[in-house]
Amino acid sequence: MSTETLSDLLAAVRACTACEAYLPAGPRPVLQVNPAARLLIAAQAPGRKVHATGVPFDDASGERLREWLGLTRETFYDARQVAILPMAFCYPGRGRSGDLPPRPECAVRWRAPLLAQLVQVRLTLVIGRYALRYHLPELAQRSLTDVVEQGLGASWPDVVPLPHPSPRNNIWLKRHPWFESQLLPALRPLVQQALNGRPPSTHACPRQRT
Ligand code: SF4
Repeated sequence: MSTETLSDLLAAVRACTACEAYLPAGPRPVLQVNPAARLLIAAQAPGRKVHATGVPFDDASGERLREWLGLTRETFYDARQVAILPMAFCYPGRGRSGDLPPRPECAVRWRAPLLAQLVQVRLTLVIGRYALRYHLPELAQRSLTDVVEQGLGASWPDVVPLPHPSPRNNIWLKRHPWFESQLLPALRPLVQQALNGRPPSTHACPRQRT
């Protein structure tokens, strides 16, 4: 697909109203796509703050995610390096225990053609359960903790599952200290490797049960 066609595709996404009836704040697709990107962040859906600014991960979750990955804002928001493609592009509203799930219409309609544009991606970071189901459906029956723990596994070397960096996951992070002490230090070099255009080397899970 040509760059011009990507422009058409992005224009169609930005004009999309497919699930407008379910969006309390209305459609406002937030994504970052460029065919040159080498790192793909497959996320969940924008929160209320991101809906207001239109900037992906411009919130506490984003601050934590950039720290996890060892990326500056400059690199993170360089679309020629990093693509950010949530499972749904518009804020889904709030439910009883946090934001509602990403609207399913979005991935059905847009995900495949947009992913087809990302021909340079070397590493995909799958954030949260909905992205995991899409990108690693064979793992969908396992708990997210279990999958993250196996994490940097050789069976899916170009995809790394991560928990959501939301402050709502502080308890999960406290209960699983290996994530920050062992997995993230092993992940950061892979991120740099991907940004430099190299596929991730085969890597064993650094997790040591204690
Ligand atoms: S969430 Fe996706 S499908 Fe729904 S209106 Fe926004 S862009 Fe369209």
